[in-house]
Amino acid sequence: MRSDKDARIRRALLGWYDRARRELPWRTTRDPYAIWVAETMLQQTQVKTVLPYYYRFLAAFPSVIDLDRARRDKVLALWSGLGYYRRPTNLKKAAREIVLRHGGRLPRDFAALRELPGVGDYTAGAVMSIAFGARYPALDANARRVLSRIYGLSDNARLRALAARVVPASRPGDFNQALMDLGATVCPARNPRCADCPVGAHCAASHAGPIAKTAAKPPPRKVEWPLAIVAKNGRILLRRRHRHGLLAGMWEIPGGEKKPRERATAALARELAAVGARVASATMLGIVRHSITNRSIRAPVYFCALAGDPSGGLRGWRWFALDALKKLPISALSVKAARLAPQA
Ligand code: SF4
Repeated sequence: MRSDKDARIRRALLGWYDRARRELPWRTTRDPYAIWVAETMLQQTQVKTVLPYYYRFLAAFPSVIDLDRARRDKVLALWSGLGYYRRPTNLKKAAREIVLRHGGRLPRDFAALRELPGVGDYTAGAVMSIAFGARYPALDANARRVLSRIYGLSDNARLRALAARVVPASRPGDFNQALMDLGATVCPARNPRCADCPVGAHCAASHAGPIAKTAAKPPPRKVEWPLAIVAKNGRILLRRRHRHGLLAGMWEIPGGEKKPRERATAALARELAAVGARVASATMLGIVRHSITNRSIRAPVYFCALAGDPSGGLRGWRWFALDALKKLPISALSVKAARLAPQA
């Protein structure tokens, strides 16, 4: 009977979680705000990458009210390097709404959480179950894969219904986190360790024989992205990205994707022409590499001298001392490239 199977799986998973769970800072608090921040950072991002960002973010903005009052640039700066920059923008917008509509406290209500910018079913379910102890599922990619294997289901709608049924009324947050942990450690997409698994005896996939390997992801698209370090009086030229779209509002070293058969220096000349600057000479400083989502970027970095001074056309562009970069919201690619800049 399925309710017996559900009960055995709950027991096995919670017992395993008590013995083997990962000790993580957001597991030592019931503060809904801290849990919301952690769950937002963890979207598409591994735990070990998130940890230093989580500590810095919570130290700078310990409450919703602090986040609401913070300058947007400071929020973005503390997120710089973590990627998916719509997340901090949405956190900030959501903080505003929480202050205006919920008295500065995260609402203890799934539908109200779901209405906040950037909060989807997963995040709302995680906050409801982990922070408020309410019986909601939280299906991230790990939990989805584990449940799908245990119950032999792949259909999304059925998996969601199953997750809602199987999450227990007692310790729902621990149960959801146990599924996530199991998927991250014992049951990854490739090469699950069924012999070490606490639910191996109840798992449809392990009884069905060797588990089909998840199809390998398509390789990332290779992109050539020359960058120009333009220096003046010990400062370098940065430009600000639009408020919307990829890396919204972040500062970056000027550059852009090279067209096929275009020379790197010609691509840089095209980018700098946007502020009426003409490249007089370009000296290669080195190459940096960076991966985002499904792109693998190779960025040759040039030290460019300009013919004339672009100061007249610098709307959205600015000179910054190298020291100031660590306080700016700046793309990770630009941080790597700036390390090659000659010190004044
Ligand atoms: S028995 Fe194997 S496939 Fe099933 S949940 Fe455990 S590790 Fe994953």
